[in-house]
Amino acid sequence: MFELLFLLLPVAVGYGWFMGRNSVKQKNQLAKDSLTIKYSTGLNYLLSNQQDKAIDYLLETLEVEDDTVEAHFAMANLFRRRGELDRALKVHEYLVRQPMLQDKEKQHAVFELGRDFYSAGLYDRAETMFLRLTKSPVYGIKALSYLLQIYQSIKDWQKGIDLEKLIIKSKDKKLKHVLANFYCELANIAIAEDEYIKELELLQHALQLDPKSSRANLVMAQVFESSKHYNDACRCYKEIFLQDREFFPDVIDKMQACYDLSDHKDEFYPFIKEVYDKTGSTSALIKYLEYLDKADTKQRSEEYILAALKRRPTIRGFKHFIKMQLNEDSEQTSPQSLDVIKELVAAYLKVRPRYSCRNCGFNSTVHYWSCPSCHDWEQLKPVRGLEGE
Ligand SMILES: [Zn+2]
Repeated sequence: MFELLFLLLPVAVGYGWFMGRNSVKQKNQLAKDSLTIKYSTGLNYLLSNQQDKAIDYLLETLEVEDDTVEAHFAMANLFRRRGELDRALKVHEYLVRQPMLQDKEKQHAVFELGRDFYSAGLYDRAETMFLRLTKSPVYGIKALSYLLQIYQSIKDWQKGIDLEKLIIKSKDKKLKHVLANFYCELANIAIAEDEYIKELELLQHALQLDPKSSRANLVMAQVFESSKHYNDACRCYKEIFLQDREFFPDVIDKMQACYDLSDHKDEFYPFIKEVYDKTGSTSALIKYLEYLDKADTKQRSEEYILAALKRRPTIRGFKHFIKMQLNEDSEQTSPQSLDVIKELVAAYLKVRPRYSCRNCGFNSTVHYWSCPSCHDWEQLKPVRGLEGE
């Protein structure tokens, strides 16, 4: 209720302005009287808890002057913060209609109105507002960002791509990153329709926009793999390690399957050893231990994992260690109790999140390219620390 006295700010400012000028001219006295009546009427509506009537009345009777514009914006923001979107909308719409507003203020009003529509889920109307601002030096990047969010919500990837020239011109890395993911989405559609050339073109375009897009390389690797171009697929997988070391553990198994069919089969384990040395990733460690086991150097692999777990203890590493113990034919160990421990650890890991969003902290047991919480792209990566990598 008291916050609504904000409504009267424009009146108060206008009132002061008139007061400063009314000392000499009688007509100003009349204006003052008129404003005082408006002020009193508005206040009466507020005090009798008729807030909507008060807003309508004040907006109808109060002129937007240079020095009252900010007060109008403050009033609308207050409504929005209180979750009263319809009232915020009313004030912003009123501001947008004012012919006397300067360009900058008009753009501000259009932008805020777009935000109101967006918050209310009225995407088509929000889109209309933001499209008016795409070339604005002040609101251009913000408007483009909202437009991409709208197109992401309605999965209209092509509409986002239609903004490409403006996005490139803005030189905004975040916008390019989002657009690269729009291209990946279109590539997925092309894959479903079995359009090989189009798939590769779309993915190459995604990489041009965002050379750090590990998603584009991963999808490209899968496209090459499905067309039996295994060497090219291996190259893409390797590039993912250069692009995003935190995401890389998730592609190790896929990469191995591809290396097994390529001309460079022998290069896989040395590469994984390099990954482990550089990152300490548990997935890379487990994969390298496989190699040591295959090479029949069990003692060496046991020494290796013990040293690794001392250096960087993880539950997944511990689970693998128990598995190794179970596989040994030692009389000193008790396979039954180890089996129970292994199952317990496996059950524990199963319910723990495998991925966390690096942007907002959202946790998940399954992977999403767009975070379900903050909607940012390519931010869900394997969890770090004791329960992760
Ligand atoms: Zn997130």
